[in-house]
Amino acid sequence: MQQVVHDPDAIRALVVAARAAGRRVGFVPTMGALHAGHASLVARAVSDCDDVVVSIFVNPTQFGPQEDFTRYPRTLAADLKLLEPQGVRWIYAPEVAAVYPPGDATQVVVGGPSLRFEGERRPGHFDGVATVVCKLFLTVPAHAAYFGAKDWQQTLVVKRMVSDLGLPIEVIVCPTMRESDGLAMSSRNAYLSSAERPRAVALVESLRQAAEHWSAGSGVDAIERTMRETLSAHGVVVDYAAIADPESLEPLADDAVRGVALVAGRLGSTRLIDNLLLPVRVTSPRGTVL
Ligand code: AMP
Repeated sequence: MQQVVHDPDAIRALVVAARAAGRRVGFVPTMGALHAGHASLVARAVSDCDDVVVSIFVNPTQFGPQEDFTRYPRTLAADLKLLEPQGVRWIYAPEVAAVYPPGDATQVVVGGPSLRFEGERRPGHFDGVATVVCKLFLTVPAHAAYFGAKDWQQTLVVKRMVSDLGLPIEVIVCPTMRESDGLAMSSRNAYLSSAERPRAVALVESLRQAAEHWSAGSGVDAIERTMRETLSAHGVVVDYAAIADPESLEPLADDAVRGVALVAGRLGSTRLIDNLLLPVRVTSPRGTVL
């Protein structure tokens, strides 16, 4: 039976006791409004571990002042129902004041992979993510934490923080779950109107095109131009459409063999992101490289 725990000291004590009893503990941090993407992380954690903790916490510090913190969907009852058959042991759902006590003045700031793309467009976003994930890792001292490739840049920021701070937790990245037309599942898809929803498929289409052109040996500029054209043709206002180094997110040289394609854009007031790890390529604009 799953148990909802609100108090940080209580969840820490439960996890510490489970570990002392020799049990492997997995942790899936979420902001709730759970869907099949979240469920896939939970399923992986349940299959790898003896006890699984899912946190549900809409973290205020990762939202900018003009962003959707207040209207972000909060659906605890439905979330608990979705988790019920999955075999989760504990759901950690703290109050904001338990995570950010009065007078809170500490932040975790990660450079490197947080600087471009989301970090550039959403100042402070990754400071909020790194800070809350660090706090959660200290409160839920699990063996392993599960994150979605859907938020590729976030996985790099979390891995960088874990490595730099020497946090004793393994970060496991799970594949992106998609709707039948390819749209990446996201709690924010609920904001899309019925007119916007079919146009949202442009994000994944632009990524798949990028992968094709990449494998055919096209150059970075040509690939990025095609991505932007596809997004614009569907009425998506492009925030960025780029390919980059999959580990550092630095710009790619034309003869690079590894890359990730990343897109962000707006449909009406809804901002969506997606990404695709590109296949290691054998042909670049300068000829065969492998
Ligand atoms: P969120 O609740 O949006 O903060 O997401 C919680 C976790 O679920 C993050 O690690 C996300 O990357 C992951 N996630 C969100 N959407 C998907 C998806 N479509 N497929 C796989 N993982 C996802």
